[in-house]
Amino acid sequence: MDKIMNRPNNERMLSRFIEIAGIPGESKNELKIAEYLKSEYESLGFTVKFDKANEIIGGNIGNLYAYWEGVDQTVPPILFSCHMDTIFPVHDLNVVIEDGKVHSDGKTILGCDDRGAVAAYLEGIKMIQETNVTCGPIEVICSISEQRGLLGARNLDNSLVHAKDGYVFDHDGDYGKQIVYWNGYSYYVDIEIFGPQKQNGHFVLNTGATNAFVIAADFLKSVKLGDVDEYTKANLGLINGGEGRTIVPASVKLEGNVRSLTKENLDKQLSHIKDIAESVAGGYGGHAVVEIRKSFDGYKLEENNPLIQCAIMASTALDIEYHLEETMGGADANALREHGINAMTMGSGFQLIHTTDEYVTLDNLYVSGPYISALIQAWYLFHKKMT
Ligand SMILES: [Zn+2]
Repeated sequence: MDKIMNRPNNERMLSRFIEIAGIPGESKNELKIAEYLKSEYESLGFTVKFDKANEIIGGNIGNLYAYWEGVDQTVPPILFSCHMDTIFPVHDLNVVIEDGKVHSDGKTILGCDDRGAVAAYLEGIKMIQETNVTCGPIEVICSISEQRGLLGARNLDNSLVHAKDGYVFDHDGDYGKQIVYWNGYSYYVDIEIFGPQKQNGHFVLNTGATNAFVIAADFLKSVKLGDVDEYTKANLGLINGGEGRTIVPASVKLEGNVRSLTKENLDKQLSHIKDIAESVAGGYGGHAVVEIRKSFDGYKLEENNPLIQCAIMASTALDIEYHLEETMGGADANALREHGINAMTMGSGFQLIHTTDEYVTLDNLYVSGPYISALIQAWYLFHKKMT
């Protein structure tokens, strides 16, 4: 571990982050940040390419792929992925630093999700190059429209990717402390409940008609929601139906989400929702149609996975007390895995994202570049069996 070199440049890291956070780039409008990154990576000796994902999903630029062959090509490439887009625009960002925290002036988000990682990758790679540390090939993918449902990463052009393994720094929690080895599954569920009569009708003229809302209420009382079991959470968050105050509704739609750390428990809950909807509606002489769609699949990495091993090496080298953690959130790692890339999510220091209170601590910012640098070195040492 003492082979990992670490010469942080806190001032440069902070100014780099502030510069990047100030570049507008909400989803589908990533051109400016993409042009900035192309020029930065080319100045570090990387070859930069873009795919045409924006022609499929919309937007003014595709996903960015930057590749540098490093010093020793006998080691497999290590990938760092992040997203370029921010959930809301960050025009006229005014960064405030106080009490060890970096935040906006309260008028915009800070955009540390995921610009913190964007800056950390550049700083970590710069540290590697200026200290002449031996490393293998490094690849960086900066995706578009992550905030719109991992759209960029889902539409990745595999022919432009070199690496088979990679990290996605896009999760709350501190650098090097949160190593997210277990990521849950997320599936959408759409339920339409139909009463016994075929059409909506005026309540005065339809004596004895069954209101589909009553069936839905009965269903909602019977179905398990919230914390379903130790691995599973379920929610129905949208309800839609009805034509007017005098009309008895013949049907009603409900939309929800089930998340579970295991596929088995996920499937059990999805079946439960379907069974309860069908049996409750059937009890009223009606029926239910239940549709299930994947949002993203989960994964669980073993502790001997090289990504986990190298994260532990980097955290240990930087004296960071690490925890192997689980999450039910989705990130580009889920989409990258569907392209056959062994990817995992890591904590990247941001807090209260998607709000104007978003912040990152200076401690996290300062350690982020050195942590990426330590990971690159750990990846090399691990594959050279020099740990
Ligand atoms: Zn993010």
